[in-house]
Formats: sequence, C-alpha cells, structure tokens
Amino acid sequence: METKENRIALVTGGTRGIGEAACEALARMGCAVAVNGRSDAPPPVVERLRSEGHRAEYFQADISQAADVDRLISHVVETLGRLDILVNNAGITRDSLLVRMKEADWDEVIGVNLKGIYLCTRAVLRPMLKQRYGRIVNLTSVAGISGNPGQANYSAAKAGIIGFTKSVAREVAERGVTVNAVAPGMIDTGMTRALPEEVQLRLVASIPLGRAGRPGEVAEVIAFLASPGASYITGQVLVVDGGLAM
Ligand code: NAD
Repeated sequence: METKENRIALVTGGTRGIGEAACEALARMGCAVAVNGRSDAPPPVVERLRSEGHRAEYFQADISQAADVDRLISHVVETLGRLDILVNNAGITRDSLLVRMKEADWDEVIGVNLKGIYLCTRAVLRPMLKQRYGRIVNLTSVAGISGNPGQANYSAAKAGIIGFTKSVAREVAERGVTVNAVAPGMIDTGMTRALPEEVQLRLVASIPLGRAGRPGEVAEVIAFLASPGASYITGQVLVVDGGLAM
C-alpha cells in the first residue's frame, strides 16, 4: 500500500499475529500507529516500527473492560492528537463442543470478541463523528459466516460482529465514517498454531489455494479498507481465506 496517509491508527491486540502485521501495513501507509495489548511491556513491533522511522506508541488495556477502553481512547487522543482509524483486531478462542462448553468460556469469548468491539467502537465514534472522518475495520471470521464445530461461542461472536458492522455503518455513514469487516479463513498465527496438528492439516487440505494465509495477507486488506482508496466502501465483509468459504 503506497499511498501516504499521515493518519492516526489504533490496532487492538496489535502485539502479534494479524494485529502486528496490521500495525506494520498501516505504518507503511504513513500512519502513526497506537499499538494496544494486554501486558504492561510494549511488544517488539513498537521498537521495530520506530527504528524504521515510523511513529508508534504502546497502550496497555484489556478491551473487554469498559473503564480500560475509555482510558485507552482518551490516552491515544491525548498522546497522538487525534484518532482516524480503528482496527478492532483483538480476539480469543476457547474452543470445545457445545455440550461441554463452560459458561465462563462462552462469556469470555463474547466479552472480548464482541463486547470489546462494541466498547472500542462506541468510544472512538465521538471524536470521529466530530471530525467527520473515520475508518473502522472489524476482524470477523469465516467461522462467523459458515460456522465451525467446536467454536459455537467464537462463531456467535464473529457473526455478531457482521451485524454490528452493518448497523453501525448505516448509523455513521453520513458523517464520513466507514465501518467494514475482514473475515480471514485459516491464517498462520499463534491462534491457529494452538490447534491440534490433525485439525490444522484437515483445514489446510480444504483450502483451494492449498495453504494457510500469512498475517501480512490479511493486513494488506485491513490497510486497504482504512485507505483513501476505500472511501466508497462501507458495511462490507471482505473474505480473505484462500477460497475456503466460497
Ligand atoms: P493472536 O492470538 O495471534 O493475537 C490476538 C491478539 O489479541 C494478541 O495480541 C492478544 O494479546 C490480543 N488480545 C486478546 N485479548 C485481548 C484483550 N482482552 N485486550 C487486548 N488485547 C487482547 O490472534 P490472530 O490470529 O492474530 O487473530 C487476530 C484477529 O483475527 C482475531 O480477532 C481473530 O479472531 C481473527 N481471526 C484470526 C484467524 C486466524 O486464522 N488466525 C481467522 C479468522 C479470524
């Protein structure tokens, strides 16, 4: 993505995987990047971006907690002066078949993957509506479109994100804010490497392109939806899955 943007972008869960790659793609696009994560220490990506001449700051917050999110957004705006782009990337899995699924695993996945997006989006809308500009990109999943055994909690959250994306897109369109979703298939990150090897092999065998995706291949699509070139796209779900769900 070559277009220089000079915008301020926040990536939740930007410490590794797809979020880390999104921080890199947005920085290459010319954005100053606010990297969010749960731990106190900044992840290596912050120093790496700085050493490449980009502006990058780290902000600790658990995005499933309302007080953390309010502190996060005001801290980003105070530190970087504005907020133009939000990538709602943070997500977790707590997989098991529904008959064995614990209530805590249901609550935690809905709390981070769905409520977290509601909290972060609500908090950024105030500054974005005021400045009449904003780009919000939500990470959903093909599991939210096609379902996946063992992932009823995760699929419910990811399907919820699609409805949320379309509703909010309609609410804020006339104020210059676009809201879109990216639906990855199987991407090679810590999240999928935690799956049993036979599950990984079975999944890869069903991908027409014949391999798992790389985090950077999702990040490029996130950066596109946040770029000037995507100014007339809102309320859409872009599937990035090597043909898995077609
Ligand atoms: P990952 O586990 O590698 O990274 C997730 C990131 O989210 C980590 O940085 C983690 O610290 C952060 N995070 C988790 N809970 C958080 C919280 N409460 N507050 C702040 N940060 C938190 O995962 P990934 O594979 O890079 O996935 C990124 C997003 O893409 C997720 O929303 C995931 O559901 C989605 N996705 C991934 C795949 C895949 O195959 N990897 C497929 C479809 C969708």
